[in-house]
Amino acid sequence: MGDRAPPTLQQLAIEGLLREEALAISALEVMPWMLLLAMFEVASKKRQTNVLRAMVPIWPFPHLPVGALTKSSHLGTLKALSDGLDACITPMTCPRKGKVRVLDLTTTDTHFWSTWAGTYEGDCSQQVVRHEQPKETCHDSGMKNSLKVVTDLQLMDNDTKEYATHLVQWAQQRKGSIHLCCLKPQIWESCVSNVIEILKSVDLQCIQELHLRDLWMDDMAAFGPYLGQMRNLHTLVLEGITNTFRMDESQGLEEEWISTLLSQFPKFHGLQHLYINYIYLLVGCMREWLRSLKKPLETLSITYCHLSQADLDYLPQCLNLSELQHLHLSSVLLVEWLGPLGLLLERVKATLQSLELEKCWLEDSGFRVLLPALSQCSQLTKVNFIDNNLSLPLLMQLLHNTAKLSKLTQELYPAPLECYDHRGLVLVDQFDQLCPELLGIIRTKRKPHKVTFATRKCYKCFNYSIYELESRHCLCQQ
Ligand SMILES: [Zn+2]
Ligand SMILES: [Zn+2]
Repeated sequence: MGDRAPPTLQQLAIEGLLREEALAISALEVMPWMLLLAMFEVASKKRQTNVLRAMVPIWPFPHLPVGALTKSSHLGTLKALSDGLDACITPMTCPRKGKVRVLDLTTTDTHFWSTWAGTYEGDCSQQVVRHEQPKETCHDSGMKNSLKVVTDLQLMDNDTKEYATHLVQWAQQRKGSIHLCCLKPQIWESCVSNVIEILKSVDLQCIQELHLRDLWMDDMAAFGPYLGQMRNLHTLVLEGITNTFRMDESQGLEEEWISTLLSQFPKFHGLQHLYINYIYLLVGCMREWLRSLKKPLETLSITYCHLSQADLDYLPQCLNLSELQHLHLSSVLLVEWLGPLGLLLERVKATLQSLELEKCWLEDSGFRVLLPALSQCSQLTKVNFIDNNLSLPLLMQLLHNTAKLSKLTQELYPAPLECYDHRGLVLVDQFDQLCPELLGIIRTKRKPHKVTFATRKCYKCFNYSIYELESRHCLCQQ
């Protein structure tokens, strides 16, 4: 038995009522709003679709953030909710008139339920929940009288695809009455023709964040015209876009696809965050990618890619990086001349808040070039340099610099090279002795919040040894 509190009388009453569905549904018309909310929570978790279907038309608030309760794409629940909204479109069928205007299927808005629970446990005042208004999520769709269904629309596996297809078809059949507001679609490994059918059916101007993962480059070309219509996109995440014809002589096709994709970039007037992960096509193209943007980026994250010297050389020249707040170049091979990266840091020293250079194969000579500019980045709250090959003297120099950065709350450093033997195994005594000494350098200037020293991954047990005020060794050193 756990330590959970015993159920309240109200919970027991609701669960008892829900065991008799017909009785529960007939009681809805006279049920006080507090019980309605509690019953909706329980019925959602239990996936009692008949009860949910009956509750949507009498929901007493404008906003129904059901995604925060269900947290998964359950088709039966979606069908019940959409049936419930159908009853709202033809209100003659509702004996007790509800107020719902927005059905939110995204999983992020838990505020409503936590506020209501707090209200219930407090003085039972209706004020807090009564004043909850739906968040304005999208641009003015020009459909003031329509009901809005907010979704993130995920196309990741069969379940999410079936869910998305039902939702889109249902909304399509009620065009004029329902505004399907798709904010953050995630499209993974999908059949491009299905995705395009779905993109044709949603208002592309509502999309704020787009994740495209594990797609073929030739599919990306098909997305081109739809990407260009996402005028309000602020975050673009591209992961694992690969070329079907990599091994043949289709160089010309590859260039054509890249230029199709890049020709859409100038249309993203508000793009602020660009994440590029595991895309080999990036090599040598940084200038083309970044200069075609219309506005300075806040976040540039390039991971598991290779950058050429020409790519690095372009970074400090790029006007679209002049106000950068987050620069992440982890798992990017940075063994060449790092002067340009130092110049970029110098340029963004007044705005940069996080810098991640994890696993960049950096050595002392390369890293030393970054130190003067790094010590001037006074707004930094997070740095991550783990999995680089730095010696004890260089690391001490680095820590003398970062110790002056008073806003740092999260710092990750590699264990110095002196902590490994000639085979690359961790020398535990050395690690346990050197890490507290290194931490002491920060302590002479300021109080550290969260500082981590980590070794490379152990090649025997595939674990790290970590020092965060105390040591935790990899499995074979315990
Ligand atoms: Zn919208
Ligand atoms: Zn080990």
